[in-house]
Amino acid sequence: MASETLSPADYSAVAERLTGAHPREILQWAVETFYPRLTMATAFGPEGCVILHMLSEIEPRVRVFNLDTGYQFPETLALRDQIAARYGIEVEMVRPDTSVAEYEALNGGPVYNRDSDRCCAERKLGPLRRAVAGYDAWISAIRADQSAHRAKSSVVGWDAKFSLVKVNPLLRWTKRDVWAFIIANNVPYNPLHDQGYPSIGCWPCTRAVLPGGNERDGRWAGQAKTECGLHSLDSSQL
Ligand code: SF4
Repeated sequence: MASETLSPADYSAVAERLTGAHPREILQWAVETFYPRLTMATAFGPEGCVILHMLSEIEPRVRVFNLDTGYQFPETLALRDQIAARYGIEVEMVRPDTSVAEYEALNGGPVYNRDSDRCCAERKLGPLRRAVAGYDAWISAIRADQSAHRAKSSVVGWDAKFSLVKVNPLLRWTKRDVWAFIIANNVPYNPLHDQGYPSIGCWPCTRAVLPGGNERDGRWAGQAKTECGLHSLDSSQL
């Protein structure tokens, strides 16, 4: 079914039909329905690497991008090259208008420690908005069991915040499912995960988590903030 023929009711029906489907089937549907107007954002987390593995077998030409804030860990940036070597997928680095040096000079120093919402808005959300313009759908790697917030998402839905369809192939997978797939398929992953970092974003806002802690606890530790805004609730799900 071509994307232009889908109505909100169609998305709702598709979401219901695909809720229990394997992520490959969900990705296959997304490719058949939206490609080439389909894109994917990845922060090179374990879930994103799993999707890249599957995508390489379905349609490796899907445009994939990373929001390169300038504050990512070197290990994260190195993973881009490993993904390219393994799958032939060249992840595009989408950057803000200013380098970190320019941004901090303009603002009298880092913004992340004074107003992290503003920093995320300017170094992630603005570039994301530009990166998805002109596309019909984007793929994200969220899982429902990562937070109560993410549990409210559906496998396919309308993302009102960015005005395109959002596809969440791994929504119903658990962390255990993801790591079982990584090990079984020898998928490249960020070595920081082996050093106590369950969820990895920008280095100023990421901390290691003690064993048994929630995997999102290391993000914006000490703040009420748990999301950068990419997956917030005003992305209404049909
Ligand atoms: S995660 Fe931290 S450093 Fe990265 S954009 Fe958000 S506030 Fe800035």
